[in-house]
Amino acid sequence: MKSSGRRRRLRQDAPITRRAAMPIYEYTCKSCKHEFETLVRSGQTPVCAECGSAELERLISMPAVNSEGTRTRALGAAKKRDTAQAKDRAHEQAKYERSHND
Ligand SMILES: [Zn+2]
Repeated sequence: MKSSGRRRRLRQDAPITRRAAMPIYEYTCKSCKHEFETLVRSGQTPVCAECGSAELERLISMPAVNSEGTRTRALGAAKKRDTAQAKDRAHEQAKYERSHND
């Protein structure tokens, strides 16, 4: 997979303010392959900015890690937070799918 077409922070509709408490993730749409970043708060299900599909694949964008010892804890925390949000997301996704099933 080539990453040359990777654009960051170019979209007007993406919140620019980055705070520690604001999880911004990169997604690739499974339907149209559009790549975008979006702010995901619990209770929200991100959809593709292009086609509106909720079939998204989250890209893992980890910060560059050089020294293992000092960063391991930060990574662990990020992973933990990630898991919690994934759970949250899965829940929202299930809710969404239920309400759009028929
Ligand atoms: Zn799409």
